[in-house]
Amino acid sequence: MRGRLVAGNWKMHGNRVANRALLDAVVAEIGGLEGVECALCVPYPYLGQVAERLADTPLAWGAQNLSEHAPGAFTGEVSAAMLAEFGCRYVIVGHSERRQLFAETDRLVAAKFAAVLGHGMRPILCLGETLEERDAGRTDQVVERQLQAVLNSNEKDSFKQAVVAYEPVWAIGTGRTASPRQAQAVHAFLRQKLLPETRILYGGSVKAANATEIFAMPDVDGGLIGGASLVAGEFTAIVRAAQGKG
Ligand code: PEP
Repeated sequence: MRGRLVAGNWKMHGNRVANRALLDAVVAEIGGLEGVECALCVPYPYLGQVAERLADTPLAWGAQNLSEHAPGAFTGEVSAAMLAEFGCRYVIVGHSERRQLFAETDRLVAAKFAAVLGHGMRPILCLGETLEERDAGRTDQVVERQLQAVLNSNEKDSFKQAVVAYEPVWAIGTGRTASPRQAQAVHAFLRQKLLPETRILYGGSVKAANATEIFAMPDVDGGLIGGASLVAGEFTAIVRAAQGKG
């Protein structure tokens, strides 16, 4: 019932030449996708380049952030309408780097989530605990609080379109991955609060070498991939693992 999704998060990486090589290699490897959806969430300046290269391929693209506001006097911000105009299908909201480095609150994340949906795109809502919170036995409480803030101002039905990404903060960019059982436990907890059709991705140092065992968990519906999405061979191997061909 829930199709798998593998989404790349390029973070603040890339340049036009390197992007071109990466996109060409990814399209060549997984241009004909079956049994899995694939999206690349890229820095704003490259949306035009990525949209042009991925047009007429089955790969989707998206952004990593947006403004919660409608267009107006908000210097330096990017609206949902602008991203929709670029053909974005997905927008990441609430990534832990934005929560931690840019002080994004649960309420702000909820407003951004609504802005994405309001423009016909799909939010990828990131939730996850720090190591300190996990060690204190507060993982469920933290992800529940983060999710509830979104549910307070958005219909539960919005999770027919929206995607959730469970990303333990201690596993992001650290090379440390949650064990498949740890990931499954949190995904199953979140599943009870969502809809049966909501896709819940795992993110946190997913690589070709560990993707198959993580994707084998019954409540893991794919991955949000940071560092490994910048390496064509790694990323395409992760997509193949999600297809069950890893
Ligand atoms: C991310 O940025 O969402 C992420 C999961 O990064 P990494 O795969 O590098 O841990």
